[in-house]
Amino acid sequence: MNSQEAKSQGAVREQNFRTQLLAWYDEHARRLPWRETHDPYRIWLSEIMLQQTRVAAVIAHYHEFLRRFPTVQKLARAREASVLAAWSGLGYYRRARMLHAAAKLIARERDGKFPQTAEGLRVLPGVGRYTAAAIASIAFGEPVAVVDGNVERVLQRFLGRPLAGEEFWQEAEALLDRARPGDFNQAMMELGATVCTPRAPACLTCPVVDLCATRGEMTRTANEPRQKKRQIHYALDYRADHSRDGKVFLVQRPRDARLMAGMWELPELANPPRPDSLSFRRLAKRAGGTRFFAATTSRLQGPGPSPYLTLKHSITITDYTVQVWRVPVLPHATGKWIPVKSLSRIALTGLARKILRKVEIIAGPDRQV
Ligand code: SF4
Repeated sequence: MNSQEAKSQGAVREQNFRTQLLAWYDEHARRLPWRETHDPYRIWLSEIMLQQTRVAAVIAHYHEFLRRFPTVQKLARAREASVLAAWSGLGYYRRARMLHAAAKLIARERDGKFPQTAEGLRVLPGVGRYTAAAIASIAFGEPVAVVDGNVERVLQRFLGRPLAGEEFWQEAEALLDRARPGDFNQAMMELGATVCTPRAPACLTCPVVDLCATRGEMTRTANEPRQKKRQIHYALDYRADHSRDGKVFLVQRPRDARLMAGMWELPELANPPRPDSLSFRRLAKRAGGTRFFAATTSRLQGPGPSPYLTLKHSITITDYTVQVWRVPVLPHATGKWIPVKSLSRIALTGLARKILRKVEIIAGPDRQV
């Protein structure tokens, strides 16, 4: 089979997965109160309550909480003591405090309206990547995938290989049904919670059993493909400006890309820059403007150019050696200068985030919301 045939066979398998999973979900999904609404307030509340709490325990508290605070404005106006009292029995009270803080922010700064995208929702206190994607897809139909423990398990078993970190998000995104993203996300989680359970999955009743590579608990060595190796190069152009943090040049991946569609990354270079290239000469001329240029220029004065940074990165079955070069982008390059202070609000690829952390343009995970 040539690569084109393999690609189209993969696309058919993914489409069958979507169709079969959604048909099963339409028929078998548990009826839960937050599944009968598209009100972002109610969906947000359920997502926060479901963090670290079982569905059965959440249902009773959910109704009572909504009886006391039927709208986000009512919640915003409530005293903290009343909110904590309504939360009583669910535990992890930090969630309730964050919920209250977010309600105040929505009421005060957004006239009671929720941001409608995952990116916008991330600014709310207590809303991380998973919760933002869940609310955006379920309440607003944004085609953005969620990843939780259930989704991770289903993905690995369906694909028949272990995944790690950003790979989960990339594969979930590739598999997502873009016409029904909210239902698809809930169906993935439902399948993981009720059929594809951690121990003894019920494969005989699974709606995607004919497409699944594992059909059972996955052993570490099951179907692990051989890793391929590749070298890639990226241009890093960072400039100080009047703001405290400066700005960095990034490009956005195509909206219809199979992986990481619409996410931002550093511009990729076809080849490493040559020592006599215009870029390097221009870089040397501009040296001294920032700590990054100073560091790079000192290397340029050595025996020959070397990458600013080299790191390893794995995506699915490919191990990349990534070389990052400090070169200025050309004036007509397609992309955008992004202020460093805005980087936490845009969707960066895992690799771009890794590079920007390594060169200390953005903070490590402990300082990210
Ligand atoms: S066939 Fe079994 S292992 Fe595969 S997704 Fe279904 S329940 Fe999970």
